[in-house]
Amino acid sequence: MTHSASPKCRSCGAPLTLTLVDLGMQPLANSYVPMANAGKPEAKYPLHARVCESCWLVQVDDVVPADAIFHGDYAYFSSFSESWLAHCKAYASKMTDELRLNGQSLVIEIASNDGYLLQYFKGVGIPVLGVEPSGNTAAAAEKRGVPTLVEFWTEALARRLYDEGKRPNLICSANVLAHVPDINDFVRGVSRLLTGDAVYTVEFPHLLNLIRLVQFDTIYHEHYSYLSLLAVEKIFDAAGLRVFDVEEMPTHGGSLRVYACRKEASHGERPGLAKVRADEAAAKLDRAEGYQGFTARVEAVREGLLDFLTSAHHGRKTVAAYGAAAKGNTLLNYCGVGAQSITYCVDRNPAKQKTLLPGSGIPVFDVDELQRRPPDFILILPWNLKAEIIDQLSDLGLKGTRFVTAVPNVSVTA
Ligand SMILES: [Zn+2]
Repeated sequence: MTHSASPKCRSCGAPLTLTLVDLGMQPLANSYVPMANAGKPEAKYPLHARVCESCWLVQVDDVVPADAIFHGDYAYFSSFSESWLAHCKAYASKMTDELRLNGQSLVIEIASNDGYLLQYFKGVGIPVLGVEPSGNTAAAAEKRGVPTLVEFWTEALARRLYDEGKRPNLICSANVLAHVPDINDFVRGVSRLLTGDAVYTVEFPHLLNLIRLVQFDTIYHEHYSYLSLLAVEKIFDAAGLRVFDVEEMPTHGGSLRVYACRKEASHGERPGLAKVRADEAAAKLDRAEGYQGFTARVEAVREGLLDFLTSAHHGRKTVAAYGAAAKGNTLLNYCGVGAQSITYCVDRNPAKQKTLLPGSGIPVFDVDELQRRPPDFILILPWNLKAEIIDQLSDLGLKGTRFVTAVPNVSVTA
């Protein structure tokens, strides 16, 4: 195999020479195929996660044309997950207390989606502003009274908001930092708009858990970066920010919520920061050793899933999948699983129903399909929502359907 040029780190520019895992050629994880296009060729791109040995940012090669990657029609509506809403409500209440937010404050959320989070600030009379590039989710936010700019977050936009006199007390973003191609520009934008003791909180799936729990299925093209505290602190430092606290949370298989402020702000360091720094050092995330051996563990997950599907097939058992999530597509395509092994998939999002999963070609229906054609096994693709999904489908469980997750190893309910 020949390389035209060694890829460079998107944050610090160093050449990327260390592989975390190479998942081969894959379609875009969110490019659901209309049923009328069944059997037609799909665009596929290399999906290769690499480690920067200079700043330790883990990243996938930027190989997909920008116009191919944005699929507004299938946008994810955050309000579809009840456990996520409960998480957001608790966060809003905590920040309102901690920062003493009131009717004169301003909270800005970057990638505010359908207003799922800002509604809780607005509900207690705190002014809010959402920034959201997807028109249809922004429209849903406006409908619930959350003012929303339909734009991508950039340093240029932050400068404009600053010039308009916007002085947020809190800027927040959840599960977006990893999805921006120009992570430095994004963070500089945050830094530009923070003044005094204003706080930025950012949530992202923690790389430490990705490695520890073999969550390789969270790797897909639109997910450019896989973040450790170590890498985030370096990026923030370059933009004039410093981290003063970190919380570990169970969302998305183990996330961090990082609290940052301007370097000159008065916030003192809290114990959570030292704790996560120490965990990452113990896991050797500051040297190549921490990343080597991951590929072999990913291959073991593939073998486990294929063994399970083969024995289900031999036992004439049917398998359906729950949740047309991006992570499911990475898993199924890396493992080479198709509609021969998994009869159908269900999803609550109407935009994904009556499509085929990219690559695997498994048809997607509404959740009632599980009642019409009850399967012996349901493979839960968004394993981070496993408990919630098993609870929702408890009637099927009582009738004998068993629930399966593939990561970090195949697990079947009794
Ligand atoms: Zn780097």
